Amino acid sequence: MDSRLADFIRDTPAGKVAGEIIGKCVHCGFCTATCPTYQLLGDELDGPRGRIYLIKQVLEGKPVSEKTRLHLDRCLTCRSCETTCPSGVKYSHLLDIGRQVVEERLPRKGGDALMRGLLRETLTRPGLFGTAVKAGRMLRPLLPSGLADKLPPDAREELRPWPAPGGHQRRMLTLAGCVQPALAPNINAATARVLDRLGVALVEDAKAGCCGAVRFHLNDQAAARDDMRRNIDAWWPHVEGGIEAIVVTASGCGVQVRDYGHVLADDAVYAEKASKISNLCRDPLEVVAAARDSLLPVLAAGKQRRGPLAFHSPCTLQHGLKIRGVAEELLAAAGYDLVPVADGHLCCGSAGTYSLLQPELSLRLRDNKLEALTAASPQVVATANIGCLTHLQAGCTLPVRHWIELLDEALA
Ligand code: SF4
Ligand code: SF4
Repeated sequence: MDSRLADFIRDTPAGKVAGEIIGKCVHCGFCTATCPTYQLLGDELDGPRGRIYLIKQVLEGKPVSEKTRLHLDRCLTCRSCETTCPSGVKYSHLLDIGRQVVEERLPRKGGDALMRGLLRETLTRPGLFGTAVKAGRMLRPLLPSGLADKLPPDAREELRPWPAPGGHQRRMLTLAGCVQPALAPNINAATARVLDRLGVALVEDAKAGCCGAVRFHLNDQAAARDDMRRNIDAWWPHVEGGIEAIVVTASGCGVQVRDYGHVLADDAVYAEKASKISNLCRDPLEVVAAARDSLLPVLAAGKQRRGPLAFHSPCTLQHGLKIRGVAEELLAAAGYDLVPVADGHLCCGSAGTYSLLQPELSLRLRDNKLEALTAASPQVVATANIGCLTHLQAGCTLPVRHWIELLDEALA
């Protein structure tokens, strides 16, 4: 696609990135076929090719309208289009640039601005969010059902402890994250137990917080960069101390940490450190799969059949981190019978704060996803991201678990 970017952006770092990405798109439209919002709405402007065209217009200096913003807001940032695109168009990076410009040109007002401000300030503060979750559990009958359904029961009483980190030379760092400690504290604890069996001590640093994804995708990109710099500062002494990896147990956060190097590429102070942090970032699937030769025989020796399981691969795992088939292999080795799931490439509708900002589209996607996941009557659903987990759990009676919790139980 040819573009003539306007003076305000052409010679900026963002303008150069945007120009390159737009230039790679050859209008073929293959991506529209795998775009969840195009499938639901059938409008070219609710597919990747149409959105690229809208962003190009904005960056060429055309006026920004509510309609432009609506079509960009409806994008899930699921990156299914990136997986499909034969030309390697980095759509999500272009979307970040386009959304930021649209936000500046057409500031939000009223309830929309208020809702986004509330989400930015509550979700990114683990203490505040934890208190809100506790209060929400107590007031559950009074909450709107869409919100009440998203609150899982308090599982801390069943929480088994982290192993003591003292016994191993190999050390990895993990990110506590912002919402996961309050909603599903067992996920990081289960990861620590599994890695302990692999001879790795897993440690957290309380000075790190939200990975930055919440603010970044709510278009407060300057504050998101501050979140990233704070995490880099918290982690850097550990990096210098020789940690092997930063294990991020929510694939949605993992994809953001993997992007630190790109997002902070023009930061004179942090660019190099950010790139190093991105290179150290691992999904637990990558760490566990690297030890598959020693782990699979242990799992096979268990010989226990654990029943049918449907795996939901989050978009951030399969399209963002490009990890496919690994959780399925491990869960099968642990004794689960993996059932087929149709349209596994499609988003479940969670997509960070999307389920709260675009509830109608989100619920349609969730209904479709749950139909596909439960078609072969599994007894449990497994996934790899806290957002997908709580979103799916809110709509179904089957247990929805993080795969590492199931692996931890199989190894116990
Ligand atoms: S990121 Fe997902 S929803 Fe957005 S355009 Fe690409 S495929 Fe469609
Ligand atoms: S598949 Fe890639 S090249 Fe083709 S229209 Fe979509 S983004 Fe452009």
